[in-house]
Amino acid sequence: MNMSIKGKTAVITGSNSGIGLGIAEVLARAGVNVVLNSFTDSKEDHALAARIAQETGVEARYIQADMSNGDQCRALIAKAGTCDILVNNAGIQHVCPIDTFPVDKWNAIIAVNMNSVFHTTAMALPLMRKAGWGRIVNIASGHGLRASPFKAAYVTAKHGVVGMTKTVGLETAKEPITCNAVCPGYVLTPLVEAQIPDTAKQYGISEEEAIEKVILAKQPSKEFVTVEQLAGTVLFLCSDAAAQITGSAIAVDGGWTAA
Ligand code: NAD
Repeated sequence: MNMSIKGKTAVITGSNSGIGLGIAEVLARAGVNVVLNSFTDSKEDHALAARIAQETGVEARYIQADMSNGDQCRALIAKAGTCDILVNNAGIQHVCPIDTFPVDKWNAIIAVNMNSVFHTTAMALPLMRKAGWGRIVNIASGHGLRASPFKAAYVTAKHGVVGMTKTVGLETAKEPITCNAVCPGYVLTPLVEAQIPDTAKQYGISEEEAIEKVILAKQPSKEFVTVEQLAGTVLFLCSDAAAQITGSAIAVDGGWTAA
């Protein structure tokens, strides 16, 4: 893989945990300066950036911004100053039938999982055009391609992200900029761990059965996808080998969406 990303700067939204943190670590190891983000502003958040900088020798910063707020999404990119690689990763979930789905949860999921991608992309594209190179990677989901009951807001938002990815891919097709979505199957991160009890409750089964019969039931490989596998996919999409891959939705899901 011919990597020309050393010295570039990546902004990864929602990267103080799970998949986003894993992506930041892998990009930093490839020589990319990284901007970590979440809505909190704790000592631990800033310590994550300091650790990455120390371990890899790249510049690593933590910038607090709440991705449920459009102005803060835009301010994140403005504060970063440079954004050659934008990884839209921040995401939240709530599991509930649609007729009792809390309105505040609906609004929050649409804002964080979908609207933030619009705001950060709108701000990052002019910076990429100025730099003459750019990569946008949207962490969508298998739920950007398929639906499951009780996840109306999440499925709606992730389908929206896949649609936005195609549009941005077309709008930038003649430029040295690509925009792709990565659609993970189930990864054992805090986001999935948190929905195991709710899934068990909705189906009236134990938590062990929820993992086996509901969650991994969709994944033919019967294995969770790993953070490292997803970070590797993002790294590939940032490489020269992927320069003609744009507007696509790449499933990393143990075969889920092949069925
Ligand atoms: P996670 O809960 O570990 O991480 C989510 C990240 O988003 C955290 O860093 C959190 O702080 C951040 N975040 C949440 N709300 C935010 C806000 N308002 N502003 C800024 N940051 C915010 O979950 P994860 O599994 O690592 O999820 C990362 C992405 O991958 C999400 O978009 C999720 O939908 C997607 N995804 C996850 C799975 C999975 O199985 N875990 C599967 C498919 C897609």
